[in-house]
Amino acid sequence: MKARISTEWLSGCSGCHVAVVDLHEKLVNLAEHAQFVRLPVLADEKGYPEADIGIVEGAVRSDHDRECLLRMRESVKTLVAFGSCAVYGGPSGLGWLYGKDAVMETVYREGPTNAGGPGPDAAAVPLEESVVPIDEVVPVDFYLPGCAPHPYFIAAGLGALLGGKGTPLTEKTVCSECTRKMRKRPGVALRKGAVTAEEPDVCFLSQGVVCLGSVTLNRCKAPCPAAGTACAGCAGPSLDVITEPHLDLRNLVATRMHKLTGLEPSAVKAYFEENAATFYAYALASPVLYKKPTVELREWIGGR
Ligand code: SF4
Ligand code: SF4
Repeated sequence: MKARISTEWLSGCSGCHVAVVDLHEKLVNLAEHAQFVRLPVLADEKGYPEADIGIVEGAVRSDHDRECLLRMRESVKTLVAFGSCAVYGGPSGLGWLYGKDAVMETVYREGPTNAGGPGPDAAAVPLEESVVPIDEVVPVDFYLPGCAPHPYFIAAGLGALLGGKGTPLTEKTVCSECTRKMRKRPGVALRKGAVTAEEPDVCFLSQGVVCLGSVTLNRCKAPCPAAGTACAGCAGPSLDVITEPHLDLRNLVATRMHKLTGLEPSAVKAYFEENAATFYAYALASPVLYKKPTVELREWIGGR
């Protein structure tokens, strides 16, 4: 009998659902073992039919998200947090910086394309005060971060869940698929604000540019350093950062940059703290990072 798969999208950009469609011909293989009983990117389905596997994209930002997530959890046997918004809050988690009133003001009244109308009335879905990842609301069985997860990892994860031999999901970082080489470059300065560098085959860290590849789980196959841009960490932290309380993005990157260039670790760490909303953007709403004993994320950023 085919496994029944149901999907839902909460607050996000729907890019993770599009990534499912990006499976292309693998969808045909998948159809031999499973049927989608709910897939909002392709078909409208307001109900929550019972299913074996539930796949949820997006973070919880509103009452509507919360209600949909609870109904989803009740209707499926196994629940997968799919994509960085569901797993960590993702870009949606940046809403934490401002609170719901500021978000409403900015989006509906002050935005450059707004006509300055009265804004949504009482019938609009109320926003919650903060954005949270889905496991803050319901139990989650499996996590597949990525913004969006690469179709290779979606196929591998679904294959494993459907009982096939599957391909083990790598526990390595983005660096494992990056072709740039870490080279010693003594005396290189920290290039604040830079996301690119001149030498195409040399690691950004060697060139004084902060790249989060070494502290980010590989769920993407490293497209950004291949295209000439430092990794922004959109797939969320590496497993050592997740499991070890005192390991954090900034101290691991600072140590690596020190070894490659001689840069003072304290200068790199200070740079991380000054720009925490950027370097921690994808996991800002997740206790995985902000509850670490060495991280004062919310104090560094300020705001609410
Ligand atoms: S730190 Fe960035 S540039 Fe360096 S090897 Fe890792 S992914 Fe590539
Ligand atoms: S290289 Fe980094 S920023 Fe680019 S897709 Fe992968 S995790 Fe995201």
